[in-house]
Amino acid sequence: MLTCEHIVKDYHSGEEVVHALKDVSLTFRSHEFVSILGPSGCGKTTFLNIIGGLDHYTSGDLKINGCSTKDYKDHDWDTYRNHQVGFVFQTYNLIMHQSVLSNVELALTLTGVGKQERRRRAVEVLKKVGLEDKIDKKPTQLSGGQMQRVAIARALINDPDILLADEPTGALDSVTSVQIMEILKEISKKTLVIMVTHNPELAEKYSTRIIQLRDGVVQSDSDPVKAKDQPAAPSHLKRPSMSFKTALSLSLNNLMTKKGRTFLTSFAGSIGIIGIALIISLSNGVQLYINRVENDTMAGYPIEVDETTTDMTDMMSTMNNMNKKSTKKKDGKVYTRAFVEDILNSVSSSKKNNLKEFKSYLESDKGKKFRKNTKAIEYDYDLQMYVYNEQTDSGLVQVSPNGLLEKLGLSDMLKASGQLNQSTVNGQSVWMMLPENKNLRNEEYELIDGHWATGKNEVVIAVDSNNEISDYALYSLGLLDQDQLVQNYQAFVNGSTEDLKATKTKSYTYDELKNVKFKLVMNSDLYQNRNGVWIDCSDDEDYMKGVVSNAEEVRVVGIIRQRSTTANQQFYGGVYYTSKMRDEVIQKSENSAIVQQQKADPNTNVFTGRPFSDSGKLSMSDLSDEQKATLASMSESELMDYMNSYNENASATYESNLQKMGVVDLDSPSKISMYVDGFDQKEVVGDLINDYNKEQKKNGHEENVITYNDFIGTILKSVTHMISLVSDVLIGFVSVSLVVSSIMIGIITYISVLERTKEIGILRAIGASKKDISRVFNAETTIIGLTSGVMGIVIAVLLDLPISHIIENMSGIADIAKLPVQSALILILISLVLTVIAGLIPARIASKKDPVEALRSE
Ligand code: ADP
Ligand code: MG
Repeated sequence: MLTCEHIVKDYHSGEEVVHALKDVSLTFRSHEFVSILGPSGCGKTTFLNIIGGLDHYTSGDLKINGCSTKDYKDHDWDTYRNHQVGFVFQTYNLIMHQSVLSNVELALTLTGVGKQERRRRAVEVLKKVGLEDKIDKKPTQLSGGQMQRVAIARALINDPDILLADEPTGALDSVTSVQIMEILKEISKKTLVIMVTHNPELAEKYSTRIIQLRDGVVQSDSDPVKAKDQPAAPSHLKRPSMSFKTALSLSLNNLMTKKGRTFLTSFAGSIGIIGIALIISLSNGVQLYINRVENDTMAGYPIEVDETTTDMTDMMSTMNNMNKKSTKKKDGKVYTRAFVEDILNSVSSSKKNNLKEFKSYLESDKGKKFRKNTKAIEYDYDLQMYVYNEQTDSGLVQVSPNGLLEKLGLSDMLKASGQLNQSTVNGQSVWMMLPENKNLRNEEYELIDGHWATGKNEVVIAVDSNNEISDYALYSLGLLDQDQLVQNYQAFVNGSTEDLKATKTKSYTYDELKNVKFKLVMNSDLYQNRNGVWIDCSDDEDYMKGVVSNAEEVRVVGIIRQRSTTANQQFYGGVYYTSKMRDEVIQKSENSAIVQQQKADPNTNVFTGRPFSDSGKLSMSDLSDEQKATLASMSESELMDYMNSYNENASATYESNLQKMGVVDLDSPSKISMYVDGFDQKEVVGDLINDYNKEQKKNGHEENVITYNDFIGTILKSVTHMISLVSDVLIGFVSVSLVVSSIMIGIITYISVLERTKEIGILRAIGASKKDISRVFNAETTIIGLTSGVMGIVIAVLLDLPISHIIENMSGIADIAKLPVQSALILILISLVLTVIAGLIPARIASKKDPVEALRSE
């Protein structure tokens, strides 16, 4: 039962106050068919909206089942509209992008009724209005009368106590009007129906009570309620609240009706995401590549601690003038600035590392940490191995030490220019020792023929990952004709224009390579005792031929191939020998006569027969009579040899002699190489070395402190740093576009709010709360944000393919553009969050819209 008591409604439009209702008091029965008649502008719609809780009275009271609504809150009105009132409008007010069924179900959807129940009840009311066969049609496919019947079905779905109809037949022809009236009349048997109409005849014919309104007051009432009905107890009704799922489906349907615009909006929104995703892809790919190179390079370039080091970083910073802390001078004088002196200072400050001590530490219990954090630790020794190849086109070829550079006349030049020191000679050697660590060996090489060298007279030949071996190695090993090369080079130097490239690409079968034989000459065999002193005969070809032919034969037992790596490490190819071979040479040298003699008398140089301390020019007066006699008895060539030997050995020491003779202390390496996996481990090892140094200092052994240089590490580190810097800056730029596109999505959402004002009104009329409305728009931005995020990622991933392809074609680096899954997900989330934030304001605006005004908008 519904009672209006002295209801007044004033509208304030600007300065003016419109008194739409002036003291209206009416009581309605729980079921009757009331028609409200009156001229346009007399306040009929206003009255209906107030009864329906869509608009609120200025003063007076509306009593629902005897309860005052004066203290009603927004959500009480929402509940009232949803459960107790059904609205039917002149212009139907259906949601055009939803099906008939969804339109009818909407009020139930708001209260969270289950899908099946919803459908059952919707079909039931649609049957009542005779539209059960139009369930899946869109409102646009229906006639006016049919649409109005859908509207009535929608109003009836919640079984309301009151059905409010504002000129329901206003837009219909008389035949369909009659159909609608019949339906309303049927409904009024159980429900209070209040209908506003312009048509007195229809009112007369169908309604049970006619109320005339004029200028906001009741003029007449054909059947006023006299006796006071018992007020019914207020019922507790379920508050309607839209689930986010409903909001999503409403918005999704809406978006589907404007697919083109939704697509474009999402695409525009995705551009920022695409940009960031591409930058992340690239920097990620480059980072991965660098990591890969790092690891590969680390395998090739271990942390090396040499017997002597010069702090190169110090020198480099000196050269780049980085250590300067000069000040500007303004006293009118010119000052010197140290440059050459600084460089010379840093170069000459080379340090000796006590590798003997360090090695024993590494092998002790304390060195466990080192062993745990390295893949392998390898030791090098200052052992000059003498290896020859007899069976070559250019006669006897000295493989080790490499004779090629000397033959070309390059070694003197390089030595003079300081570019050829012990380490570069080693670096250019093609006679190398296999890593003692098997894992390291297998990581760098794979066996492609024969077997790994194990015995003291076994070697393997190493080729690069393309099965190629450099001509440098082939010439050096005597497989290509050294004399031919020297000849061509000489001709070139003398002005010949002929191409130096005398060799066409040649190929060898594995067996051909394995048939190559080398000869290992013991260091002591190079020297001949003549007249009591030892003469170096390594330059005497006839003598050497004899020595080589008697020397031990070394067999090639296998071919190994460098594993394909991305690191462009310089690799010539060459021969790898075993540690057993090294030990054999050391052992034999130790036992040789010359070494025994030198060790027996450490003060006398066996190459001169004179004390080491004597380094002056040979003068007759210094010689004993015996020596004079020996010299006198020599032939001219013998005398020459002796003089040469004497002069060459003028600066020799006991240690340098022993080293020359192949005596090596295995406890005292010349170089320690620590192989690590990547930067992290490298840093750990660096820290361990620092710890070692600290410990040595603490124990007062300053001289045991280890210094080493880490070029590649420093360079790669700065590259990595640069890349992350560049990608950060780029991401910063692109983020701006992301923000811009979010703002754009906010604006588009706002336009959508404007467009959907009517829908907002309808939703409010059937009981949707303000929160529900903002939820609908937040759902829309969620969908757009998600779509643009996913779209951006998909497009970026698709773009990554050709980008990777192009970069691979240009640089040979595969898979450079690769978006990590984690970043992809985060980007989608960012897109979602930004878009929703951008849509919050429009959603708020939507929720604040006045339902009556919203309904009136077109
Ligand atoms: P009816 O439905 O009987 O044609 P209305 O109830 O729509 O009349 O309007 C009653 C009076 O109130 C009219 O003068 C109208 O101009 C005025 N009115 C209605 N709504 C508003 C509003 N939101 N703001 C100002 N005036 C209004
Ligand atoms: Mg009206």
